[in-house]
Amino acid sequence: MPATLSNVIKNNNGLRVFCGGCSRVRDLDVHALSKRFGGGFSVPDVGRRARCQACGHVGGQMQVVVLSAPYMES
Ligand SMILES: [Zn+2]
Repeated sequence: MPATLSNVIKNNNGLRVFCGGCSRVRDLDVHALSKRFGGGFSVPDVGRRARCQACGHVGGQMQVVVLSAPYMES
């Protein structure tokens, strides 16, 4: 499954970015990102565009985080 914003939403996951400059961790609003960039936008591209509010560094490591237990589809 490609790591796109729509798939992150579909799986009820969240996104976290680790700043490449100061290692600050921030949780992102996936729904807001999807509205802004579109559901087909890839998660690594979000990381490349993310600007740190603490140090101003652009670019960070993305991590998909599980917000709730996934349910199994048959
Ligand atoms: Zn930073």
